[in-house]
Amino acid sequence: MTDAALPLFGPGRHLLSVSQLDRDGLDRLFTLAEYVTPIAERKSVCTVLDGAVLCSLFFEPSTRTRLSFESAFLRLGGEVTTTTGFTFSSMAKGESIADTSRVVSGYSDVLVVRHPDEGSVAEFAAASLVPVLNAGDGAGEHPSQALLDIYTMRRELAARGKAVDGCTIAIVGDLRFGRTVHSLMKLLAIFSPVTFRLFSPPSLELPDAIATFVRDRGHTVVHCDSVVEAVAGADLVYATRVQRERMTEELPPSLRGSLLDRSMLVEAGATDIIVMHPLPRDSRSDSYDLSPSVDDLPGLAIFHQTDNGIPVRMALFLTALGVSAEAVQMTLRQRPWDARLRWEP
Ligand code: ASP
Repeated sequence: MTDAALPLFGPGRHLLSVSQLDRDGLDRLFTLAEYVTPIAERKSVCTVLDGAVLCSLFFEPSTRTRLSFESAFLRLGGEVTTTTGFTFSSMAKGESIADTSRVVSGYSDVLVVRHPDEGSVAEFAAASLVPVLNAGDGAGEHPSQALLDIYTMRRELAARGKAVDGCTIAIVGDLRFGRTVHSLMKLLAIFSPVTFRLFSPPSLELPDAIATFVRDRGHTVVHCDSVVEAVAGADLVYATRVQRERMTEELPPSLRGSLLDRSMLVEAGATDIIVMHPLPRDSRSDSYDLSPSVDDLPGLAIFHQTDNGIPVRMALFLTALGVSAEAVQMTLRQRPWDARLRWEP
């Protein structure tokens, strides 16, 4: 099925691609995410999904996406069952995606699936009895990440008196295999014209189809020769890790060290820029990624992104399962414990 043939996301629907969201749907999701934020922050407790079961199937490594989807479901009062990797699932015995999906969907009310092959989550959806949320299909898409990224951008830009509509975004790093970039750019295409300033190392350039997709919708794509050139004049920078797991060849020795560090932001006159990254940051000695030297800059938003993943994914579950804000409200109660060491804004 092509993206264009997918229905808009809503109750009883799978979420496979960001192309299932229009501006209205996005605004409704974000309003719901704001509404459930006190529950996400554990200031109140809700049991609206009491009795519901999420099955999360992760056939690729994950920390944030799996745990935040699961946490989001638990915070709504549901229960979670999970399987990770191929080794411990019957796929190691040769079971097909269709059989696995049909079986597991009989055990649960919603599935969250990550798989290394592009298009594979759509195969799960085709055989599932319940809604399937795409948590990453190879180098394809990562819709929930794009949603939490734009939710974060909106908040960070609003705090500076700006909006996503008409903003300038530098996107740097592995633009070829980075699925978060693909979903992000496609979803940003539903806003008023955005300027994308791109920098990627040779052989990791953005697929032409994505550049064409956004240009056809009136956005501007500027290819830059360096990170400094990309960030100069941008409202925010979105950096991505080299997706080594999707590459057959070794990283060239030139790709070692910092993709983006404090000195580059100083050189670009952009030390107050909003800094985003889908994480994980690759901290190995032979990596090429966002340097921790930016961590004390005022615009660092990477942990706001991870925190925002919870309310956004709660909103996705509520929408897929057709649960209203009123139904949530009816089950709210005060949090009777306080184990948090510190609260961050
Ligand atoms: N966590 C994101 C993903 O699963 C980004 C990354 O891995 O670099 O695509």
